[in-house]
Amino acid sequence: MSYSYEAPVSQALFDRASRVTPGGVNSPVRAFQAVGGTPRFMVSGTGPYLTDADGREYVDLVCSWGPMILGHAHPEVVAAVQDAVARGTSFGTPGEGEVALAEEITARVAPVEQVRLVSSGTEATMSAIRLARGYTGRAKVVKFAGCYHGHVDALLAAAGSGLATFALPDTPGVTGAQAGDTIVLPYNDLDAVRAAFAAHPGEIACVITEASPGNMGVVPPGEGFNAGLKEICATGGALYISDEVMTGFRTSKAGWYGVDGVRPDLMTFGKVMGGGFPAAAFGGRADVMAQLAPAGPVYQAGTLSGNPVATAAGLAQLRLLDDAAYARVDAVSAEVRNLVGEELTKEGVAHTVSAASNMFSVFFTDRPVRDYEDARKQEAFRYTAFFHSMLAQGVYLPPSAFESWFVSAAHDARAVERIAAALPAAARAASEATA
Ligand code: PLP
Repeated sequence: MSYSYEAPVSQALFDRASRVTPGGVNSPVRAFQAVGGTPRFMVSGTGPYLTDADGREYVDLVCSWGPMILGHAHPEVVAAVQDAVARGTSFGTPGEGEVALAEEITARVAPVEQVRLVSSGTEATMSAIRLARGYTGRAKVVKFAGCYHGHVDALLAAAGSGLATFALPDTPGVTGAQAGDTIVLPYNDLDAVRAAFAAHPGEIACVITEASPGNMGVVPPGEGFNAGLKEICATGGALYISDEVMTGFRTSKAGWYGVDGVRPDLMTFGKVMGGGFPAAAFGGRADVMAQLAPAGPVYQAGTLSGNPVATAAGLAQLRLLDDAAYARVDAVSAEVRNLVGEELTKEGVAHTVSAASNMFSVFFTDRPVRDYEDARKQEAFRYTAFFHSMLAQGVYLPPSAFESWFVSAAHDARAVERIAAALPAAARAASEATA
């Protein structure tokens, strides 16, 4: 199927990009391979809207994959960035902005007693598992199939979801040695975690999990799952690492910790805390963080870590994220979820709208989705038809059936009306789609 006629300028840019960049993009999902058609090259964003290179405006339900929780080009965030840029863009020395951002994070998220700033979520999770290994003196890491923690070699192993299976690398370039200490288990299965600890006594450094997964579509933890992980880790002498790169400062003021209250040993953050700039972090128990260089022996560093522009953007965004802002994001999310569910039901399309606070996604199946295996059983071809109908009508959804949708506090009644107007035709397209 070809959709390129809809976006000639984007198509020309994509052709140009493909000559100089592998696949024409700098992060694979942007290439639209899961849904086909021409990726839209965006030129600007304001509030809930994006405008592409062909001059078409879209209601944005991706929000840069999470960070833009106040919408695009929020005037106060823009002003903070302009002010910071005017004072210089990087010093390679400590600065007050990074202290203020660290204070904001520790004030919001009680388990974070100390925090280290980095530049991407990948760096945060990579550093957190290194620290866990350094702290415990153990090698093995437990992760869950369908959870994404960035492109860290040891964490790209998502295959082998059998009981305590040693993971096979999912991508060429990751060696068996790099993935060999990773144990991949099915999500939401505490028995599998207990069995892995029983099979490897004294060997597991940490369990890392998305606080509430959004990378296999939205699949929230079952009742007691995170608390169970915490307990198994505590008993087994391992650290419980909650990856809040996606949920952090989005699902509540204190992220998913603010929802379930389970206290991790270490946490990772990114996305919202950078205000649209490359800023991320990992933090947690002071005694564990004290092992990090230069306080301790576990090395970790970064030329642009705590960059003054990125920290100014992040701090401005976090300071604007008060109770009213979260209430607005939650309300818009509920409205959009209801509208999507109603239209799909009207058209008789089997679906499940799965939500974790204000994050949500639509699975094209009416069977419960508790793990990656369940998620993969959905009729993803229906999402493709749904996605393209919405796109053609000016609503920008994630170009994959396995990604969370994101809304912002800037999504106002007009934006929601535009989504509502597009849904009937998209639901019909989903109902008529064939594999
Ligand atoms: N962890 C989670 C839960 C994520 O969703 C992501 C990215 O989507 C990452 C880590 C990696 O973050 P980054 O893309 O900034 O490296």
